[in-house]
Amino acid sequence: MPHRYTRFLKTLVIALGLAIAPLIAANYILNNYAVTQAETEMKAVAERYVLRAEKAIGDAVQVLQGLHQNGFVTCSASDRAAFHAGLIAAPFVQMIGVVNSSGVLMCNVPDEASSGEPVLPVLQSESPLVGIGMRDRAYEGTRVALVSWRIGNGSRLLAEISPVAISIDPGPEYLRAHRHVELRLGDGVVWLRSGEYGRLDSRSGERELVVEVASTKYPMLATVTAPASAADNLVRDLKVVSAIAAVGFAILFVAVSVWFSWRPESEAEDEFVQSIRRGEFVPYYQPVMDIETGRLRGCEVLMRWARPDGSVISPGAFMTFAETSGHIFEMTRQIMRKTRDEVGDLYFQNPEFKLSINLFAGHFEDRKIVEDIIEIYGDSKIAFQQIVMEVTERQPLSDMDTARKIIAEMQAVGVRVALDDVGTGHGGFAYLQKLGIDIIKIDKMFIDSLGTDDNSTTIVDTMVELADNLGMGIIAEGVETMEQIERLRELGVSAAQGYIFAPPLPAKLFIDLATALSGGKAAGEDDESAEAVGAVAKVA
Ligand code: C2E
Ligand code: CA
Ligand code: CA
Repeated sequence: MPHRYTRFLKTLVIALGLAIAPLIAANYILNNYAVTQAETEMKAVAERYVLRAEKAIGDAVQVLQGLHQNGFVTCSASDRAAFHAGLIAAPFVQMIGVVNSSGVLMCNVPDEASSGEPVLPVLQSESPLVGIGMRDRAYEGTRVALVSWRIGNGSRLLAEISPVAISIDPGPEYLRAHRHVELRLGDGVVWLRSGEYGRLDSRSGERELVVEVASTKYPMLATVTAPASAADNLVRDLKVVSAIAAVGFAILFVAVSVWFSWRPESEAEDEFVQSIRRGEFVPYYQPVMDIETGRLRGCEVLMRWARPDGSVISPGAFMTFAETSGHIFEMTRQIMRKTRDEVGDLYFQNPEFKLSINLFAGHFEDRKIVEDIIEIYGDSKIAFQQIVMEVTERQPLSDMDTARKIIAEMQAVGVRVALDDVGTGHGGFAYLQKLGIDIIKIDKMFIDSLGTDDNSTTIVDTMVELADNLGMGIIAEGVETMEQIERLRELGVSAAQGYIFAPPLPAKLFIDLATALSGGKAAGEDDESAEAVGAVAKVA
């Protein structure tokens, strides 16, 4: 059932597409959300650093200003006691001292042996009242900041800000491991640097998120950088959830669509298989007449679906499905068995009668058909010599060599092979010789235009000549008018079938007709067969 699988695959692809599209959309939205969210958080981190730094500087300035106002500006014991008090008042100030004009520390609280090196630049006349600088000492990436306060006498009060004041890491966990923070003073001096991710050696190609916050009070800038992938951590769980949801949807979609694409047809198929089992596919028999003598030559077997409701369906409605699904093989066997049972006696009494069975291209791919023929007709009242197998030219044969062998096997037991619908399809005249055809059947198309179209006449003429030359029989199909019969006679065609004689008939009518024609039993109890005989009688 290839068409069904294709349909199934199509449905599957569409279902997966429908399920994957939301996944892609969700991913896109989540990524955007993650970046916005991360940037917001990074801004908050930068702002917190700036605020803490501002607070620490502000506290230090306030303490130094208070000491200055109260005159505690020397290294005297009492002034140093005031420095002590200042340390207690401003918890983040860890040292207070006095620096001379060359920037060298004169004294400090708590006591620290001065190296004699300047800790501040030499005092200039234009130096501001408040100065901010850094010492070389650092604590976990944060340097010790210095705030100086100018006193009139050329010295300065100095406060050291503990790195602890600002080095406590704020910010959410998911960013902490990836982001990098820098706090710089206006002249580029780094106060704080934390985190491993460096802007300069950021991984190549990866998008980088950068957020900057400047202080409004002091020349200070906080920069937070992070790779965009860090934001992923924020939405990783959501992505897992959306992926699971998408997979769930996909399964649902697939299940639903498979249900819809499979079920109705499988029900239809079940019904079809049931019909085959119940033997609803039956043979109808269309007489083939000898238009020279008016005698019956035999018949072509045409399949009908006799439904339990009494309706009779023609092959056009089911043959394509029967063939593509492969059910045709069993159906053909059933038809052959029924012909054997129904017209066996008639054929036994009329050994010159031929029985034509329709096959399709698939029958010529496997020699099973030969076995079927032998098994079904082998010990029957119908002789192999009475049987004709029709192969249509409408469908291409997939393997000419195999087809040729199968045909040869049929011919070996006495079965004849006819090429059906000649002139309509794939084979052309090349088929005839390659396949070793015994009989050609001229398609109705050419019969229809006989007399009106010169080309048709020429084609039929050519076919007759060819058939004569190759020693093949010839049958005209679809004959509907007396004129056509006349023309065919003129062209030398002696066998014909068509509505002018009779349509395909159920077994009983066909037997009645045949009996009447051969002058046996009287026909006529039955209107339909009387009509058929009437038509034949006109010709005879
Ligand atoms: P086909 O083998 O060419 O059969 C001839 C078709 O023409 C039949 O149609 C027949 O009823 C119709 N016919 C006969 N005389 C006339 C006429 O004078 N005028 C018109 N308009 N039509 C006429 P049907 O029975 O409907 O079969 C259609 C086709 O289905 C057949 O074409 C054949 O290809 C296929 N078929 C029928 N039975 C079988 C079967 O048992 N096996 C296979 N594989 N195919 C079958
Ligand atoms: Ca046929
Ligand atoms: Ca035909």
